[in-house]
Amino acid sequence: MRIGTPREIKNHEYRIGLTPESVTELVSNGHEVLVETGGGLGIGADDAAYVQAGARIVDGPEEIFASCDMVVKVKEPQAAERAMLREGQILYTYLHLAPDPAQTADLLKSGVTAIAYETVTGPGGGLPLLKPMSQVAGRMSVQAGATALEKAHGGRGTLLGGVPGVAPGKVAVIGGGVVGWNAAQMAVGMGADVTILDRSPEQLERLGMYFESRAKTRFSNKANIHEVVCDADLVIGAVLIPGAAAPKLVSREMLKDMKTGAVLVDVAIDQGGCFETSHPTTHDEPTFVVDGIVHYCVANMPGAVSRTSTYALNNVTLPHALRIAAAFDAGDWRGALRSDPHLAEGLNVSAGKLTYRAVAEELGYDF
Ligand code: NAD
Repeated sequence: MRIGTPREIKNHEYRIGLTPESVTELVSNGHEVLVETGGGLGIGADDAAYVQAGARIVDGPEEIFASCDMVVKVKEPQAAERAMLREGQILYTYLHLAPDPAQTADLLKSGVTAIAYETVTGPGGGLPLLKPMSQVAGRMSVQAGATALEKAHGGRGTLLGGVPGVAPGKVAVIGGGVVGWNAAQMAVGMGADVTILDRSPEQLERLGMYFESRAKTRFSNKANIHEVVCDADLVIGAVLIPGAAAPKLVSREMLKDMKTGAVLVDVAIDQGGCFETSHPTTHDEPTFVVDGIVHYCVANMPGAVSRTSTYALNNVTLPHALRIAAAFDAGDWRGALRSDPHLAEGLNVSAGKLTYRAVAEELGYDF
């Protein structure tokens, strides 16, 4: 199979669809790989690294879109890329079609077959191609929060780990799923005083078993949120109600009862945010202050740690890419979908039809 990876063109996107190591795997399985020049620079991989891995470097995206059987990317195709997609081609990337009618219409028109990372399921449940990015964002949230807590960045000047003789900072994590769990791991590792709030008794039990005395767990209700948040130096918003906007768990009113210079990191900002005063920010200008409280609300946190994120993503996307490519060479790439219902869940667009019910319903298409 001929597989291609263009340079990502979305603003501030430094990741790439395939690492040099993934290219080696594909090439050693008999596939041909095209990589756009400079595509790997954001992860520290130059063209020479890709050539050594067996790829052929091409000058622009045109040859990739014109000649490859499968295009492997990170972000949803931008308008200029969508214009190059063609019938019979496989597009394997994050798509997030539900809030994006323009992209959906273009994909349908192009005749491309699109497999979305974010809807591929796993044998143990969950969304394994989304999980690594939640792990990254959760771990990064503590790093971002610790920096924002520094006085020069507007914070109250608290070192999360404290020092001998001075108490550590207090961290409240609201939502103890993938993001919250990873945030708590980092905060505990730094020596902070950590409390995790969740409203799922089963999840609280798992968190309690794992963290034992290293972190406290509290049931998430209004009174407990108020108490824990107002006592915290750093609050991490990590809730998710699948398919719905994030609930606003910290009101503007509550900010008045918080410590001046405390920091809110709203990881759930990509679902609208779980603090009333949040609005999306970018890595260029990640924070803003409301009523003396520093807010960090970057919607694509993993983009800043492009190297770690790309490697983490490839760990979960490459096995499917290899299976699709092997089935293609055997003359029937859809065999890869038939033999793996979890990968089949990733199919969002096929030959001019929407094939993912939730997206079709959201955007008013027949299913
Ligand atoms: P998850 O499903 O693994 O965990 C969500 C947790 O929130 C669950 O344990 C659930 O019980 C809990 N929850 C739901 N309502 C709650 C409430 N009222 N109070 C307390 N807990 C509540 O989800 P996740 O993978 O951890 O993702 C969390 C959020 O982070 C999502 O919105 C996701 O899109 C977002 N995210 C953002 C970025 C970014 O760059 N900003 C990156 C990755 C993920």
